Amino acid sequence: MKTIGLLGGMSWESTLSYYKAINEGVKVGLGGLHSAKIALYSVDFAEIEALQHAGDWPATATILAQAAQRVAAAGADVLLICTNTMHKVAPAIQAAIDIPLLHIADATAAVLVEQGVKTVGLLGTAFTMEQEFYKGRLTDHFGLQVLVPNEDDRQLVHQVIYQELCLGKITTESKADYLRIINALAAEGAEAVILGCTEIGLLVNQADTEVPLLDTTAIHAEAAVKFALATE
Ligand code: GLU
Repeated sequence: MKTIGLLGGMSWESTLSYYKAINEGVKVGLGGLHSAKIALYSVDFAEIEALQHAGDWPATATILAQAAQRVAAAGADVLLICTNTMHKVAPAIQAAIDIPLLHIADATAAVLVEQGVKTVGLLGTAFTMEQEFYKGRLTDHFGLQVLVPNEDDRQLVHQVIYQELCLGKITTESKADYLRIINALAAEGAEAVILGCTEIGLLVNQADTEVPLLDTTAIHAEAAVKFALATE
């Protein structure tokens, strides 16, 4: 079994989900007392969040590239950045290490392509919903048409992520808001909706709606397990 490297803490609420899902996946794959080999570096999210909202992405890249080097030095065979948003600086992180980076958007798009989905809704931080590093990758590399909520709803989705989900706060009001926005995307033609923020799965899940949901945390974790258990 290979060692999975995790760049976590963004936020730690979702890093917990990764840790659990990866260990559960290895248990399903190997049985018994088997558990995943994981090297985790968890950052202080307050530092990252302040830099994100100040637009200082190069500084976030420096912090995360150094953290990634520590994960690699700890013996990881692959690196997962446990947040969609920070894939904005994925190229700089990949350039700092010799192990492969398992990109969260690629893992998610692979599932969509397999399901035959052509038009997909995207929920995430404003950075993820509005900038090209994520949407552009889905469109350019996988031919997907990506729909995002209107401006007011994007702001709502963004604020719930930073003011509630990343603080471990789960409310029925925000859940209702998210489900309304998911339905609106479906009404506009989305065949499925990407939960493109690693904490959204803490708020809504497939049991809440008939619109097919892609939980990026679960998909990313499953791709890591597949990598770790693959036999050469
Ligand atoms: N975990 C979130 C994501 O997947 C947001 C936190 C962050 O900004 O990294 O985008």
